Amino acid sequence: MAFFFARFMIISQGHLTNVEPSKRLKMYKIKTLSVLLLLAISTSAIYARSDIPVFCYHQVEPFTSNKFSLSTEKFTAQLEYLHQRGYKSLNSDELLSALAPDALPTDKAMVITFDDGYRTVFDHAFPIMQKFGFRGMVCIYPAFIGSRLAMSWEQLKKLIDAGWSVECHSMTHANLASKYADPEQETLFLKREILDSRSIIEKQLGNKVRFMVWPYGVYTDRTLKLIKESGFAGAMTVDGGASYRGLSPYLVKRQVIYNTDDMNKFLIRFGMRALPLSQQYPEPGQVVEQLATFSCRLDGLGDYSPDKYVLNAKITGKKADFSFNPETRELRASVSSAFAPGNYFIDIYLRDKATGITAQNGWLFSIAGKGGKSSY
Ligand SMILES: [Zn+2]
Repeated sequence: MAFFFARFMIISQGHLTNVEPSKRLKMYKIKTLSVLLLLAISTSAIYARSDIPVFCYHQVEPFTSNKFSLSTEKFTAQLEYLHQRGYKSLNSDELLSALAPDALPTDKAMVITFDDGYRTVFDHAFPIMQKFGFRGMVCIYPAFIGSRLAMSWEQLKKLIDAGWSVECHSMTHANLASKYADPEQETLFLKREILDSRSIIEKQLGNKVRFMVWPYGVYTDRTLKLIKESGFAGAMTVDGGASYRGLSPYLVKRQVIYNTDDMNKFLIRFGMRALPLSQQYPEPGQVVEQLATFSCRLDGLGDYSPDKYVLNAKITGKKADFSFNPETRELRASVSSAFAPGNYFIDIYLRDKATGITAQNGWLFSIAGKGGKSSY
């Protein structure tokens, strides 16, 4: 609905000066009405116009081999849906522009990423993407490139020639939090996994790497600090929810698409809206000894009432006890059991009861110590 009126307004503004006065008045009335309606719609905290869904795929092949491998049939159906709805794909530079706080609202923009650099992306996903006029973003780790299951540098060059972006997904696909307890060793480890990998990619392809794409979606305060200081423009996570204008480019959220997703599940992932928030504790990527509470501020939720919305807070997929203060817009949750060392996700969900639309904002933190498991 908001899309419709926003588009109508743009059209009507463009034509108002070229019509006769009586019609102009009529159009003016319609325009005023649509402005009012748009305002009414935009007072909802779930406001869609700057949402940017970012999809994370791995493999596309005629016969799927694992949960990260989609059949060409399924992949085609998903892209066809996006194409029919008028969605356009963004490459890395366009995504960075769209995330800027002062960017124009994006309408029907999305990003299609492929992690790891599998050969099936070149052989099967690329022609399907071409068919729909989409450009993708490939996130590669050089230790894999050129091996039997991976793309070659020449194939990656062909993707760049077709307008795709190639980004850095570490050197060996290591868990970049794994040496956190040993800072001295970690410095060398992160230099090799992040900076040396970027150098190799840029040297082989002659491109400019913009994004660091965390293996397993795992990042820490130290990995974030390193990439910010060394000139990366952003980073890709697998934190939950849609990305949005004003979101830090170092915290781009992605929806992982699985082989087991049917069209309905895909549409749920695609339809998940952005939920802007700030002042998270723990901060995204923070490593803490233990966690008893977590909190954040839901900046856009000025109209909260339990009649209007269903608010939920989850940690590692389990519901947490929480309270929300509409005055300060602060959500505070308590955690009852202790965490083992490893990486965890906090997710905040907001469902608008009237529309059924749900928004999500998730982020990752870690509990210090040896251990942890991830599967991206
Ligand atoms: Zn990966």
